[in-house]
Formats: sequence, C-alpha cells, structure tokens
Amino acid sequence: MRTDVVVIGLGAFGSAALWRLAARGVDVVGIERQAIGHPLGSSHGTTRLFRVACLEHPGLTPIARKSLALWTELGERTGETYVRQTGSLNLGGPGSRPVTGARKAATAAGAAVTELTHDELSARFPQYALEDGNVAIWDPGAGICLAEPTVRAHVAEAERLGATVYPHTMVTGIDLRSDGVTVRTPTLEIEADQVVVCAGAWLGNLVPGLPLSPRRTPMFWFQPADPESEAFRLENFPAFIWEFADGRGLWGHGSGDGFGVKVGLDGGRQVSGFDADELDRSIRPLDDIAELAAAVGRAFPGLDPAPVQAIPCMVTESPDGQFLVGRQDERLVIAGGDSGHGFKHCAGVGELLAQLTTKETPYTDVSFIDPNRWTATTQQHR
Ligand SMILES: Cc1cc2nc3c(=O)[nH]c(=O)nc-3n(C[C@H](O)[C@H](O)[C@H](O)COP(=O)(O)OP(=O)(O)OC[C@H]3O[C@@H](n4cnc5c(N)ncnc54)[C@H](O)[C@@H]3O)c2cc1C
Repeated sequence: MRTDVVVIGLGAFGSAALWRLAARGVDVVGIERQAIGHPLGSSHGTTRLFRVACLEHPGLTPIARKSLALWTELGERTGETYVRQTGSLNLGGPGSRPVTGARKAATAAGAAVTELTHDELSARFPQYALEDGNVAIWDPGAGICLAEPTVRAHVAEAERLGATVYPHTMVTGIDLRSDGVTVRTPTLEIEADQVVVCAGAWLGNLVPGLPLSPRRTPMFWFQPADPESEAFRLENFPAFIWEFADGRGLWGHGSGDGFGVKVGLDGGRQVSGFDADELDRSIRPLDDIAELAAAVGRAFPGLDPAPVQAIPCMVTESPDGQFLVGRQDERLVIAGGDSGHGFKHCAGVGELLAQLTTKETPYTDVSFIDPNRWTATTQQHR
C-alpha cells in the first residue's frame, strides 16, 4: 500500500493531525493500536480543563486559540460542542502559582479575568472550605473540553475528508529510507513519503532517544453528599485549580450531562519512568485514594469524600514540561511529551503537524516545543 503520509497513534494529537492533513487534501492513512476514543492511553476520562491563558508557557496561548477556532468550526458542521466555556477559578494564597500564574498568563494572552477577594470568593462559591487568605482569579473564557467525543470527531471528520483509518492495528516498525518511509504492522506494510508519530506514552518506543517519561495519573469522580444537590453541577461549580498553603492542591470541575464531579490531587504520590505497556491499572485504596479523599473531605464539605469512580490514566513528561512537536528527520514528524496539559491544544497541534508535514509556515512560534531544543542548546554552548 502507498500513501503520502501515515499518522501513527490516533489519540488527541494524532487524530487532530489526521483531520488537518485530510482537510488539506493530503493522501493520509491513520493507524491506531486500539479502538478510536479508547480508555488505555492519555485521552480518556470524558473531560479535560480548557483555557487560553496558559500558566505553563505564553507560547501556548495561540495554540489553544487555534484549537478553539477549529473546534468551533467543526462543531458548526457536526452540531456538537467540544468545549464548554463555563469559566474557571484559579485559587490559593495571593502568592500561589494558580493566582500569580493565571494573572500573568491572562495579561500575556490579553484575556479578561476578574480578581476575587476572599469574601467575594466565599459568597460566590460556598462549596469551597477556603483557607485563610485565599483569593482567586476568575477566567470566564476557560472551561472544559470533552475528550473522547473530540478524538472521535477528529477521526470521523478526517475519514469524511478522505483519510483511511486502521484501528486495532499496532505499528511494529518504522523504516526511514532515503526515498521515503515504510510503516510495518502485523497485517499491513505501508510505503509513504512521511510519517507523523503521535504515540503518546509509547512515543519513545517507536522513536528511541527522546527524553520522555510516562507518569501514572489515575482519575477520580465524586458525588454530592446530598444526591439532590445542584451545588456541584458544572454551571455552579466550574473548573478550578486550587493550591493549598502546604503547596499541595486540587483541580477539577462539576458534573454535567454524561460526566460527574471530577477532582484530582496535585503533588500526590507519583509513579513514573515505566514502560507504558506496564502501567499499573489497578486502583489502590491506600496509595491512590486515601490522601485525595482526605483533601476532598477538607476542601468540599458538600461532597462525599469517597470516590464513586476511578480510571487509570497516564501522562508523558518531558524535562521542561513542554510538548515535543516538530520534525526529527526529512521523513519523520513527531508530537508527544504532553506533560499533562496537552488536550486543550490538540487541534492546534494537529494544525501545526499538518503545516510542518506540508512545509507550510507554522501559524505560531514552535521553537519552545521543538523536539530538538535540548540538542540545540547544547550545541550553542559548545
Ligand atoms: C489525569 C489527566 C488529566 C489531564 N488533565 C488535562 C487538562 O486538564 N487539560 C489538558 O489540556 N490536558 C490534560 N491532560 C493531558 C491530555 O490528556 C494529554 O495531553 C493528551 O491526551 C495527550 O494525547 P496524546 O495524543 O499525546 O496521547 P494519547 O491520546 O494516548 O494517544 C496516543 C495514541 O497512540 C496509540 N499508539 C501507541 N503506540 C502505538 C503503536 N505502536 N501503533 C499504533 N498506535 C499506537 C495509543 O493507543 C494512543 O491511542 C490530562 C491527562 C491526564 C492523564
């Protein structure tokens, strides 16, 4: 079989790359080891937090904005909503990272946000058992992404535009040659001009030598102590990131149609550096739940602190917490190293991957996510 481009891994980044390449009329084949929208990688669990004022790097704002624009355009065609902009709270002490980071990021992004004093915060959001001195930045443009529906929509749109998709097909080898690339699976061998590898936590298995490390990050859902309460619906309990005085914190959002109240712990027990196929998918009462449940019980008295659902997941860390998106070779483009904040950017990253593959000028600066940035720094210092 022969094609122009093969995209390997149809999770968040790869499904978007497939869509954006197909939208350009490129002859493209997508290969996914599992089902489309499966729960075994990094892009499941129904929701992800969305914002354009990105604490992680100012260069991410144009990518989040591009994602929002592309999803809005896609939603107008499909009649679906992929991002719910119900706002988000960045809470903590006045010097905490969510508060100072959100203020700085909003200024850099030109995003209008509101400062909430302790009293305003507690009057408007009584669900929170605030610590002394807690204040917040309210970001009305933020919200949540709907994860699996978005991945499925990317792939469906790509197929509508002419892409060929092979789910349940594992790539076992990529041979780069001077005149192209051969992608091998147990059932298929595809010749192409270029390959785009977006294998998430498995990226390092297909493209060795990248400084990537999978980290286990199970997800948990809760329910109000009073099941009739509306206080923890998304519209009343929007997305939040909260840093406590001891440096730990919680993130999450309220429930909606098809998803529950989601709360995660920042700074809890971390397991990283394993082979992604060896991810421990069991949930342990002591290691995974005890600290989170105690924090939820303290922070939100109206929630039952015992989680009602848990799903294992993982992120892929890079040394500086930024993605690796770019060209590795004339025939090889990669995207990975999501570092736990990639979903909100995935459509924008897909657009960048399509531009890099077709040799268009990228719509934004990509130097801070260049996969060769460490090599470039070393060479500069020599
Ligand atoms: C608990 C948690 C919370 C998060 N919170 C947020 C958030 O609030 N906001 C945000 O923006 N982001 C968040 N993220 C990060 C976001 O989910 C990830 O950045 C994103 O899902 C990464 O997508 P990916 O395409 O790199 O990986 P994946 O979606 O895992 O895609 C990789 C795909 O490659 C496939 N694959 C691997 N090897 C092969 C092979 N050999 N052959 C064929 N296919 C292969 C896999 O099956 C998989 O489908 C969170 C992540 C987690 C886990």
